[in-house]
Amino acid sequence: MEQKFDFVVIGGGIFGCYAALYLAGKGAHVALIEKEDRLFQKASLVNQARLHGGYHYPRSIATAAMSDAHKTRFTEEHRDFVNSSFEKYYAIDRFGSFTDPNQFERFCSYLKIPCDRISEHALFNFSRLEALYKTTEHSFDPVLLGNYYREKIEKEKSIRLFTQTVVTTTAKIGNLWQIELEKHDSTKSPKLTFSTPAVINATYAATNAVNGLFSLGTLELSHEISEIAFLGSKVFANKGLTVMDGPFGSIMPYGLSGLLSLSSVAYTHHKISLEDMPTFDCQVADDPNCRPAAPGICTECARRPETNSRKMLAQMEQYFSTEVDFQYLFSYYTIKSKLRASHIDDGRPTEIVKLSESPQFYCLFAGKINSIYEIEQVA
Ligand SMILES: Cc1cc2nc3c(=O)[nH]c(=O)nc-3n(C[C@H](O)[C@H](O)[C@H](O)COP(=O)(O)OP(=O)(O)OC[C@H]3O[C@@H](n4cnc5c(N)ncnc54)[C@H](O)[C@@H]3O)c2cc1C
Repeated sequence: MEQKFDFVVIGGGIFGCYAALYLAGKGAHVALIEKEDRLFQKASLVNQARLHGGYHYPRSIATAAMSDAHKTRFTEEHRDFVNSSFEKYYAIDRFGSFTDPNQFERFCSYLKIPCDRISEHALFNFSRLEALYKTTEHSFDPVLLGNYYREKIEKEKSIRLFTQTVVTTTAKIGNLWQIELEKHDSTKSPKLTFSTPAVINATYAATNAVNGLFSLGTLELSHEISEIAFLGSKVFANKGLTVMDGPFGSIMPYGLSGLLSLSSVAYTHHKISLEDMPTFDCQVADDPNCRPAAPGICTECARRPETNSRKMLAQMEQYFSTEVDFQYLFSYYTIKSKLRASHIDDGRPTEIVKLSESPQFYCLFAGKINSIYEIEQVA
């Protein structure tokens, strides 16, 4: 039997969840389709949890301004899931940074974001730091956010959630999409047919595969299998240091979990795919859960890369004094996808492109988590 929806949202990360809830709030009857058995298992869980306020993008004023613009609203609406009480430092390495202290200070003053230069601090090694700044940055908690959005979606009567479900074929019939789907759970009726005047593709790493199922265009993307390592530290608990701008790294609280996340521009990314779809040598032909067209959950995969935590930690420890020590605990992995053009300025815009007018199709490619509100401008 054909089921009718006002909107079909594909992808159950934070962007798909927010889009579905926003549309339901406007009175729409929405289907939310997720390939995995639970929402929030990929980039929305495995990230550095930085609630961007601009600091990170001294070479992309557009990304910095967008992050800063949404920061206050995101914090207010997700107050219980945001760590806003930690000490956050940004620093510039003495060697190889794309940004120098003058540029960074001018950039912060242009954006009107606080940055106080500090010339002495017992926890840091100034022989490696050209400049250290005390800043104001927050960290969202991806686990608590996932729980919050899962509960909201479950309670919202206008949203029907279909997990372990993927689109198989589509057709345009007048001003409607007819969509065939397959459920990979134990339901008696594994095949579904939906009819809808509007689709939102919020599948991030699978963006081009899903656009392709609707015979629509591709975005120029690159993809990286990325590792976020988790640390404990007594001396540096609930504090953060980000060394920018170049092949450096960051240690900062992972939301309210008590853990510190560790990432490094040089070592977080294990494999790079410059294909439009994420294509890696660890994908094997007989694994239906992870293909370039439908990537899986890297943390749960036996073929995930060996951890780079030692290299990342060795790199970052150079910036700390000897009294600071860190303990490596475990790592999460996922695919990070970027617009290829962002190699130039390191920007991370959120792009929403309307690829079909009637029936409608929006391709939503996410930059930063606090830009979820961008969907409100179009749908
Ligand atoms: C390593 C890393 C660090 C990051 N750090 C930060 C940070 O500090 N701060 C920040 O703001 N942002 C950060 N980001 C970016 C941010 O995490 C992403 O922009 C955001 O999570 C994307 O959300 P999403 O909902 O679009 O994607 P996802 O969370 O990946 O959700 C997409 C969903 O679509 C599903 N899906 C895929 N294909 C299909 C299909 N065919 N059918 C149905 N469902 C499908 C997937 O299973 C998944 O659940 C980081 C990203 C990475 C990877």
